[in-house]
Amino acid sequence: MKKFTAALVWLRNDLRLHDNETLARAARDAEFVVPVYCLDPRHFATTSFGFPKTGAFRAQFLLESLSDTRLHLRNIGADLIIRRGKPEEILPALAKEYAAQSVCFHEEVTDEELRVEEALLDNLAVQGVKDVSFWGSTLYHLDDLPFNTEKLPDVFTQFRKMVEKSAKVRPTFPAPQALMLPTGIESGEIPTVQDLGLAPASMDARAVLPFKGGETQALERLNDYFWLKNCLKDYKETRNGLIGADYSSKFSAWLALGCISPRTIYEEVQRYERERVANDSTYWLVFELLWRDFFRFVARKYDTALFRRNGIMNVSKKWKEDWNAFEAWKQGTTGVPFVDANMKELLLTGFMSNRGRQNVASYLVRDLNVHWLMGAEWFESQLIDYDVCSNYGNWNYAAGIGNDPREDRYFNIPKQASMYDPQGEYVRRWK
Ligand SMILES: Cc1cc2nc3c(=O)[nH]c(=O)nc-3n(C[C@H](O)[C@H](O)[C@H](O)COP(=O)(O)OP(=O)(O)OC[C@H]3O[C@@H](n4cnc5c(N)ncnc54)[C@H](O)[C@@H]3O)c2cc1C
Repeated sequence: MKKFTAALVWLRNDLRLHDNETLARAARDAEFVVPVYCLDPRHFATTSFGFPKTGAFRAQFLLESLSDTRLHLRNIGADLIIRRGKPEEILPALAKEYAAQSVCFHEEVTDEELRVEEALLDNLAVQGVKDVSFWGSTLYHLDDLPFNTEKLPDVFTQFRKMVEKSAKVRPTFPAPQALMLPTGIESGEIPTVQDLGLAPASMDARAVLPFKGGETQALERLNDYFWLKNCLKDYKETRNGLIGADYSSKFSAWLALGCISPRTIYEEVQRYERERVANDSTYWLVFELLWRDFFRFVARKYDTALFRRNGIMNVSKKWKEDWNAFEAWKQGTTGVPFVDANMKELLLTGFMSNRGRQNVASYLVRDLNVHWLMGAEWFESQLIDYDVCSNYGNWNYAAGIGNDPREDRYFNIPKQASMYDPQGEYVRRWK
């Protein structure tokens, strides 16, 4: 790449300095680097069924992540420039103001995000500003897959085996040590949750973790879970738990906003395997990260079908838009104790275990026959770790319209409750 005088770095779901190719490349290729985050009003609009697209828990987590990114960037001589508005309008205007010759960013894969990218590229082209995009959200790089996205296997096991056999995880990028910002840039204030039009929500004291956004907290959690508490060696046995901080990694919220990179987690797993123990549990955490990759590639392959009523397999089912049944599910008042406990946890903390998610999703779509998109959109609104691909991918599976028709995702709730909450401790906790 030719040496640019100034480059904008458009930060999106990559709010970190470590293993961030956009920052690393801009630092290498430009004299001045301007990291920008746009608070896009469309992210704070409502979903098709009328829920806030970003609920208060995730909004709070995002704002904390922005503060932390700003702090890290200030420590190396730069800043995080915050603007409220559409990236496709803000970035070209900033590029003009600071005579930036390029805008670097990480690619996304889903419809709304791609439309923003397209509009941005059009506007930059008019000004003769170069766009430089990178793939950076998955463990395995898109270009290293042993197939094109169109040929992505529809069955997870096939995908996993092919990837494990033929692809390698790329090494991480070191965090930049120093960045230079052009003088005179207005840094912009980080708003409050109220400024974003949301009522602040305080997390219930029963929450599994007092989730706090940011790279600092993400790396602390990694250190805590792997090294201080030594939980990784037991992950496979504990991962279906329901109560407490340590039955699973809880990395998801930080992964969703990119406060931590999956490759960094992978490198730490490898170090743990060298220095402590390598067993089924250490493998299993990487296995779960592969599910995350899989859903991202699935989203890329199936495009807007992921969000359609008939899902990626175009299966026509009779879904009910039964608001009474849905409200009871959402509020945790269905009368089915295991479902209600999980839904209350989600409502009051923004988190729910993987076991819980599978059960409540199955209950909504298979027992109540309620439209799966209502459930998916409620999760989108409420989850602190909402990730468009993982959420809609998992909901497609739960609704039986996903890309692996052989999987029967029906969950017998009483049976699941007796297996995973045999003493009723979890249900009592959320009474
Ligand atoms: C209906 C439904 C909706 C979901 N929505 C989301 C979502 O919006 N965002 C999200 O990150 N996960 C989602 N998941 C997947 C999973 O439930 C969470 O990733 C997990 O519970 C997060 O907790 P953890 O970080 O402690 O997971 P761990 O068990 O510690 O797993 C480590 C990491 O592996 C990945 N992972 C694990 N299971 C899955 C899975 N089934 N699909 C994709 N990635 C996985 C996550 O990145 C997770 O952080 C959903 C699952 C279901 C059934």
